[in-house]
Amino acid sequence: MVQIMKDKMEICASCGSIAPAGKYQCSRCHAPFEYNRIVVSPPKDELIYTRICGSFNCRRCGHNIALSYFTLDGFQCPECNSLERFDWSLWEDIVKDAHNVADLCGFDQPDAANHEFWQFLRDFTSEDLLRDLRAIGRNSSRLHKKNPNPHLAGYSVDLSPGNPVCSTCRTPLQIRVVDEVLQTYCFECKRKEPYEIVSGLEEYQFLFACIGQWHRAERSNEQSRPTLPFPEDASPWWMVFQGASPLRLKIERKIRRQEEETKRENLKAEKRKARAAERHRRMRSKVRNRAAVILLGVGIVTAVVTGAVLQFL
Ligand SMILES: [Zn+2]
Ligand SMILES: [Zn+2]
Ligand SMILES: [Zn+2]
Repeated sequence: MVQIMKDKMEICASCGSIAPAGKYQCSRCHAPFEYNRIVVSPPKDELIYTRICGSFNCRRCGHNIALSYFTLDGFQCPECNSLERFDWSLWEDIVKDAHNVADLCGFDQPDAANHEFWQFLRDFTSEDLLRDLRAIGRNSSRLHKKNPNPHLAGYSVDLSPGNPVCSTCRTPLQIRVVDEVLQTYCFECKRKEPYEIVSGLEEYQFLFACIGQWHRAERSNEQSRPTLPFPEDASPWWMVFQGASPLRLKIERKIRRQEEETKRENLKAEKRKARAAERHRRMRSKVRNRAAVILLGVGIVTAVVTGAVLQFL
């Protein structure tokens, strides 16, 4: 697997978003990095995280509705009470790019332009997305998304890679799967919090879990879902993905195919070279044989002629 993430990632201790090397203040929560820059190791268990913060407009009254958790059931507008659709056709782009951001942000690629991986990424994606992914970690901490389809609800979402932090003491949370729930653990507060694993989402199997109030595991059945205040100010939460993004898998497949193709071509070239060498060897041996026959013939003729001449003398 091409290593895109480096061994250590710097995050904002206040909100958990990636802390770009070239910035002095977090653009997500405005905390100064002088006191809030901490180092975490990227997760080793194939889980990767994206902080999401965004909202969309109610199609009935135009009011701003926070995307405060992941649901395909829609959101109730706090202003006009209508149930506003926000289904997979709207989530799809956000979820996939959230995965891309967690998996492919380019903070360890100073020479990215020369890297084969990024060359293929350029073939498979837009120049804008490539630029945004490469900037994250250097001078940017987010991918900003707006709904490109004017016929659907207008949304505005910020996606940042990073690591969730404890809401009390701001220590980076340790995250693991225990008994089929996602468990966050704060080493300082010794507090564990369980979150339900997203299951049955056929559209996108990589979305593993969400970390946010609505997704707490003990509240996972519909009756006990918390009634959120539907804040007008969008509050951030996290999407957790399992494994490499489909975009990375596609690029790695392409690189593998190209390597196999090169190997096949090299093998063919070697075989051609061997055949040519064999032809050359056979030709030389044929020429040598012919020369020997001619020499032999000449020798015999010379001997016969010499014999005949000697007889006459
Ligand atoms: Zn921050
Ligand atoms: Zn409304
Ligand atoms: Zn804590």
